[in-house]
Amino acid sequence: MTYKVTLIRGDGIGPELADATRRVLDATGVAFEWDVQQAGADQIEKTGTPLPQQVLDSIRSNKVAIKGPITTPVGTGFRSVNVGLRKELNLYACLRPCKTYKGVQSRYENVDVVVVRENTEDLYSGIEFARGAENTQQMIRQIEQLEGSRVPPSSALAIKFISPEASERIVRFAFEYARSHGRRKVSAVHKANIMKHADGLFLEVARSVATEYPDIEFNDVIVDNMMMQLVQKPELYDVLVCPNLYGDIVSDLCAGLVGGLGIAPGANYGEDTALFEPIHGSAPKYTGQNRANPMAMMFSGVLMLRHLGETEAADRLDRALSETIAEGKNVTYDLLPVSERHRALGTSEVADKLIERLQGSPVAL
Ligand code: NAD
Repeated sequence: MTYKVTLIRGDGIGPELADATRRVLDATGVAFEWDVQQAGADQIEKTGTPLPQQVLDSIRSNKVAIKGPITTPVGTGFRSVNVGLRKELNLYACLRPCKTYKGVQSRYENVDVVVVRENTEDLYSGIEFARGAENTQQMIRQIEQLEGSRVPPSSALAIKFISPEASERIVRFAFEYARSHGRRKVSAVHKANIMKHADGLFLEVARSVATEYPDIEFNDVIVDNMMMQLVQKPELYDVLVCPNLYGDIVSDLCAGLVGGLGIAPGANYGEDTALFEPIHGSAPKYTGQNRANPMAMMFSGVLMLRHLGETEAADRLDRALSETIAEGKNVTYDLLPVSERHRALGTSEVADKLIERLQGSPVAL
């Protein structure tokens, strides 16, 4: 069977990583037809938007996509293409597994945490009001009338919303994931002590859904406490389910616990569509240097193979990556101690070595 998959190479280090990942995925022996699509800043001149309709149509039709990172201007400019893709395609669940690999420089051992992040709501709704704008002034007056709170008129506003429907969907996703992957515990992350209505609703729904999964342990942890707990005793945690903003922050922290962004994969799931991408961004300072670690995108490819039901190929690629990391040769600079970085391989050479390993490894029957 040939899988038609949308491939978005991205920008910054994205194209180098995407090309390396594509070669390695092809070397697993699984047949892919790559539907290569472009998104990001350089599309604005050509199509008037950083996220052309054609890209969305391709993913909607293929139902599976893998992408490199895409740069988002900070403060001004166009809205994040990454957030746009998740919203347009209703990819409501973001899954970020963070596990320690033998051979990776890390302060911790035996971390194995999966962050499940809600992708469509919260402060990432994109509903913002600019400082001084007329609609902002109206909004501020409304808030004062309706709620009685005084908001400084010079303020900019960002809207956070949490619905019971989206909360239930993501918490259920976390429990179903836990059940189908032999996980023992789900922890809901929130700030319901301060945001009693928004985060309070998320927590109320999480507690209610948890009663339907008596085989899985459940607890809830306030987000600031969770950050400290993860740094002090990450082994206590298993699956973390978070609203959008906390999920974003917690997953970078967890990536840090296991040795950095270079090996941390991600997946975004909707009802019938999935998009796989590394957690890290486009690291513009390394663009075109053949230096960045392609493994986070390759591990995202492992998640994609599992999603496609290609379990044996997924296991083989996972093993090839893990063994390469454990041996500590044939890796990029970020997986080596500073004193040994002179022997780091480039992005493309790491892919070459992985392909050799994959082609030399016996295929399990
Ligand atoms: P970043 O993840 O791009 O880079 C932070 C640092 O992490 C880099 O300077 C580098 O030292 C290291 N790093 C990241 N990926 C690496 C890799 N594969 N190999 C080795 N080292 C790696 O974060 P940033 O600098 O905050 O963001 C840069 C741009 O990426 C921004 O425009 C941001 O909006 C965007 N971004 C995109 C995505 C996405 O496409 N899903 C995700 C996060 C950030």
